[in-house]
Amino acid sequence: MHQTNPEVDVSMLQPLNEAKLERKIRSSVGRAVSDFNMIEAGDRIMVCLSGGADSYSMLDMLLALQKAAPIEFELIAVNLDQKQPDFPAEVLPDYLGSLGIEFRIIEEDTYSIVKRLVPEGKTTCSLCSRLRRGVLYKTAIELGASKIALGHHADDIVETMLLNMFYNSRLKAMPAKLKSDDQRNIVIRPLAYVREALIKQFAALREYPIIPCNLCGSQPNTRRQMIKAMLKQWDESQPGRVDNILRSLCAVTPSHLLDQDLFDFSGLRGVTGSPPV
Ligand code: SF4
Repeated sequence: MHQTNPEVDVSMLQPLNEAKLERKIRSSVGRAVSDFNMIEAGDRIMVCLSGGADSYSMLDMLLALQKAAPIEFELIAVNLDQKQPDFPAEVLPDYLGSLGIEFRIIEEDTYSIVKRLVPEGKTTCSLCSRLRRGVLYKTAIELGASKIALGHHADDIVETMLLNMFYNSRLKAMPAKLKSDDQRNIVIRPLAYVREALIKQFAALREYPIIPCNLCGSQPNTRRQMIKAMLKQWDESQPGRVDNILRSLCAVTPSHLLDQDLFDFSGLRGVTGSPPV
């Protein structure tokens, strides 16, 4: 199947009404789901909810897709209560209860581990997300889930690619679909084609009960925050540039990169087929 390209989103900075926003996000989610064959008949999808705008929007989109899709699949929402101080533990159960969908709250004190192991002033997200991932993978197996849906969006993907290029010398973004390291879970990112600004607008209109992360929320100068600020500035001064970067990830030419594992440069021969003597 031919992969579609995430459409260039020049209207991103203009406010849209809720119905238009929903249509736009839903269509991008539909394309990503189809391009990467994210959902199949009989899937039981564990939808990870952090209490942020991204995961609330993802759940909304997957519920809409579930109603409209010609195939049957199950959704189960899961929140990991990491025991952060002042975490409003009733917010998500109340919200999910009001939707009338299957959900689980998993309690695991990863907060204390992060606080103990990450020195003051260092970024917490890397260790925190690794711990979270471990708990979520284990939970998916316990719940009999065939897929795990995460709320990362297009900006997360572009930011990750730039972070890897700038600081790790790797041309590597964030996969829309992957098999977990332990080979037991399939992770999907249905918001892969959706820009963060659209999600923020949509979440504000929907008035989701957002729970901010107070573990990393007080760390404004992380590398990711700096990349975010750069993308924001590009969106203002060069609308379309970030969308083009995202589209470029769907149109890679290995022969025009320098990775010898991706392309057999040494085996290239002229028409005669023999190497020069
Ligand atoms: S945003 Fe908060 S909860 Fe998420 S990985 Fe970073 S520190 Fe952990």
